[in-house]
Amino acid sequence: TKHFPVRPPLRTLFSRKRDAVHAVDDVHLTLRRGRVTALVGESGSGKSTVARLLAQLYPRTGGDIRLHGVTTTVKGGRRFREYARRVQMIFQDPFASLNPVHTTRYHLTRSLRIHGNAGSTPQELEDALAGLLNRVSLTPPERYLDKFPHELSGGQRQRVAIARALGANPEALLADEPVSMLDVSIRLGVLNLLRDLKERLNLAILYITHDIASARYFADETMVMYAGRMVEGGDSETVTQSPAHPYTRLLIDSAPDPDRLTGLADVDAEDRGNGEPPSLIRPPSGCRFHPRCPHAMPRCSIEMPVPLPIGDRPGHWAACWLYDEASLATTASSPNGR
Ligand code: SF4
Ligand code: MG
Repeated sequence: TKHFPVRPPLRTLFSRKRDAVHAVDDVHLTLRRGRVTALVGESGSGKSTVARLLAQLYPRTGGDIRLHGVTTTVKGGRRFREYARRVQMIFQDPFASLNPVHTTRYHLTRSLRIHGNAGSTPQELEDALAGLLNRVSLTPPERYLDKFPHELSGGQRQRVAIARALGANPEALLADEPVSMLDVSIRLGVLNLLRDLKERLNLAILYITHDIASARYFADETMVMYAGRMVEGGDSETVTQSPAHPYTRLLIDSAPDPDRLTGLADVDAEDRGNGEPPSLIRPPSGCRFHPRCPHAMPRCSIEMPVPLPIGDRPGHWAACWLYDEASLATTASSPNGR
């Protein structure tokens, strides 16, 4: 089967003197080749932590990351290196992720060499470099090869960062807010490039974003995170058109323009919405969303909700007591009228 890699539950606790930060808890995620999975949430929701855990940039204190069903070791060893090749990360700020004193040629050559894709002759290396730049539509390649990061536009820099990731011949890209620092006018082009690469190279892509409208445009599947936990998931159309969890509904309602399919506005949805994201040092009891939830019931502050199937769309679930039969018996109507 085409089942890709990463099937935690993941958990990470960062130690901060006396307090443990419950950055991510009980996160289950499966990436599949040829699919974009969006992980949506406001800042502080733990979504970037999930990407860094999957990239093995952070240690995990619990859980499991599997590549094709095989657990990856934490550091060192052949299996770790194999994972590090197959799973590549793309960061939010391409300017920070590229070394300012090195050219495009250096960044791409290094990636090709590390991963054994540089060929055995100078001509094979040149061909591989041109191939990478063609893949990300930086053409003609010779125009970009000897440029330094500051000589490129933001969008071109992100394309170089993507080309560098492709130098590993990966199976999965972990893209953490890959367009949020780019000009509004070029965001769509970079997302379309990623989607094209997904199709042509059969990549699994994890797309981390605070912009749920862009998830609807770009992702096959959408998962929503709140305060370090996953609260809703399903195919993107269902989650964005018929959201079940009150937090997902808040995200959609507070997006600058909920009807806009591309969702590429300049305003951060995470700055809107009512209330503050909670502390991850002492997360709220029960459902972590209960202090902000307009539908909170007595049990919500006591019992942690479990994922429950929603409606008749296969794979749609939400962790919310509104969809529990025991609650439905005592609640007049759910926010979705279900
Ligand atoms: Fe709101 Fe309760 Fe559902 Fe949490 S479990 S989202 S508090 S209704
Ligand atoms: Mg982040």
